[in-house]
Amino acid sequence: MDYVFEPAPQASLAVVGSKKRFPVRRVFCVGRNYGAHAREMGHDPDREPPFFFTKPADAVIDMPEKWPYPPETSDLHHEIELVVMIGKGGQNIDKSVANDHIFGYAVGLDMTRRDLQGAAKKLGRPWDWGKAFDFSAPCGPVYPIEETGLIESGEIWLKVNGQVRQTGDIADLIWSVPEVIEIISRSMTLQPGDVIMTGTPAGVGAVVAGDQISAGIDRLSKIETMVF
Ligand code: MN
Repeated sequence: MDYVFEPAPQASLAVVGSKKRFPVRRVFCVGRNYGAHAREMGHDPDREPPFFFTKPADAVIDMPEKWPYPPETSDLHHEIELVVMIGKGGQNIDKSVANDHIFGYAVGLDMTRRDLQGAAKKLGRPWDWGKAFDFSAPCGPVYPIEETGLIESGEIWLKVNGQVRQTGDIADLIWSVPEVIEIISRSMTLQPGDVIMTGTPAGVGAVVAGDQISAGIDRLSKIETMVF
C-alpha cells in the first residue's frame, strides 16, 4: 500500500518477559467504577449502569520518566487504573467466558483535565477535551495473564510526592472486568489490541509540574513518573 505520507507508527506497550510489544488498537475507559469515587464526583453508584468514553490509541505510551503537563488546563488530575489488554476479539461475549479474551494487564493513568471535563459535563458536551489529549494514558508494561493469573482483587494505590492520594481494591469494582467485557462487546466488536481502562478508586486530585507520581497494583510492577 502506498500512502500520501508515512502513516503514524503503531501505538504499543512493552510486554514483560518479551521483546515483542502489545499493539494498541482502541482505548475504552469506564466512568465511575468504584463506589467511593462515584460518590466523590457527586453520583450514586448503585443506580447507574456503566458508561464509557474513549481515548485515541496513541494516547497510550510507555510510562516515561518525565510526563509533559498538557496545555489548556489548570486542574490536571491523576486517575490510577487497572488496564486490561484484549488478546482475542469477539461480539456478545458472555461474562462467563470473558476472561479468555484477556491477553494481560497493566498499571495505567487516566490523566484528566478536570476543568475541561467539568465544563463539558455542565454543558452536556463530549468529554474528549478533558480526557483524550496527547499522552493522556501512560501505562506500565503489560503482564501476560499466564504470569499474573486473573486479577480480581488486590490493592490499587497512587502516591504524589510520597503521599498516599488514592487507595482501593480491585475487588471493589462496581462492574467487574468480565462484566465490562460483556457490556462493551454488546455494542462494539472487541478486537485484539483493544485496551480497557477499568476506572479509578477514590482520591483523585490535582498534580502540578515537578510532582512525582508513583502507583501500583498488586502483582503488577510499580510505575513512576514526574510531571514537567
Ligand atoms: Mn478514569
